Amino acid sequence: MICMKKIFFKSSPLNVGRVFGACRCFHAETVRRERSGLPIVHHGGYVCDLPPGHRFPMGKFPRVLRCLINDQVITDKQVWVPEIASKDLLSCVHTDEYLTNFIHGRVNEQDQKRTGFSWSEGLVSRCRYETGGTVLAAQVALQRGLACSTAGGTHHAFPGYGSGFCLINDLAVAAKYLMGNSSPKRKVLIVDLDVHQGDGTAFIFKEEPSVFTFSVHCGKNFPLRKQQSDLDVSVEDGLEDEEYLSIVEAHLPWLLETFRPDLVLYDAGVDPHQEDELGRLRLTDRGLYKRDLYVMKTMVSRGVPVAAVIGGGYSRDIDKLALRHSIVHRAATQVWREFGM
Ligand SMILES: [Zn+2]
Repeated sequence: MICMKKIFFKSSPLNVGRVFGACRCFHAETVRRERSGLPIVHHGGYVCDLPPGHRFPMGKFPRVLRCLINDQVITDKQVWVPEIASKDLLSCVHTDEYLTNFIHGRVNEQDQKRTGFSWSEGLVSRCRYETGGTVLAAQVALQRGLACSTAGGTHHAFPGYGSGFCLINDLAVAAKYLMGNSSPKRKVLIVDLDVHQGDGTAFIFKEEPSVFTFSVHCGKNFPLRKQQSDLDVSVEDGLEDEEYLSIVEAHLPWLLETFRPDLVLYDAGVDPHQEDELGRLRLTDRGLYKRDLYVMKTMVSRGVPVAAVIGGGYSRDIDKLALRHSIVHRAATQVWREFGM
């Protein structure tokens, strides 16, 4: 089922992203040394402690980076280290009341239950580093054309509450921050291919013409109550590689031609994978690789900068899951080399 909301669009006269490099100040402790290779944004603070047996695979974040380095896909010289996101930065999306309560641990039982996490200081810090990482990836993408974080994609978070393992909406914060306040605003396309609908992101930008939200998700999956993205493609359980790819290929080119984004934020969730514990689709490793390669090639070949985040992925086998999440960085590495970036 396809559902479309915003009908387009003015072409942006200030298509800043097309000349990679018109970036404002950096929200990051970046070391200003010469870097080469695909930028990989990572912070040790992407993780926090969880009770034993917790459903959320927290250990995946450092392992994504480790497997990329061990497999010699990247070197540690490619790693950019984000700053923690300030409360001020987060307030471009989230309400002051929510942020104050979340940061200071004034979160009631029911709200904690909805997020899937018991509150801890570590959890707050983790979410803030993760958001800082997505913002940095977006900034670096504007300069270099392509960048990937090793976390991010917490698309179920709403302005005033968290939900479904998502407490701060990093994609929305990055989009708002990079969009800027000057006129004309940068235009941001959010391509959300996580198996779950990006409901928080859709809600946040429903009235914002400078951000276009595109979500391909399994209709029967969480969240039960969907929001309206600018373009939703709801797919049936059990969808396989070929059909899934044909859906993505049917929409991305015309979206780019009509919306003409200055930046794309790509949520490369791996929960459409056939072995995912929460997804209901049947994509293979190869299917995910082809998807990620297609998305990033389509953008980069048109001169549109892309920042990718890893999105959702659920397995008790953390090493296998980390390897699966590293597919997007491997595909991005291929794009980086093919286009001589
Ligand atoms: Zn998901």
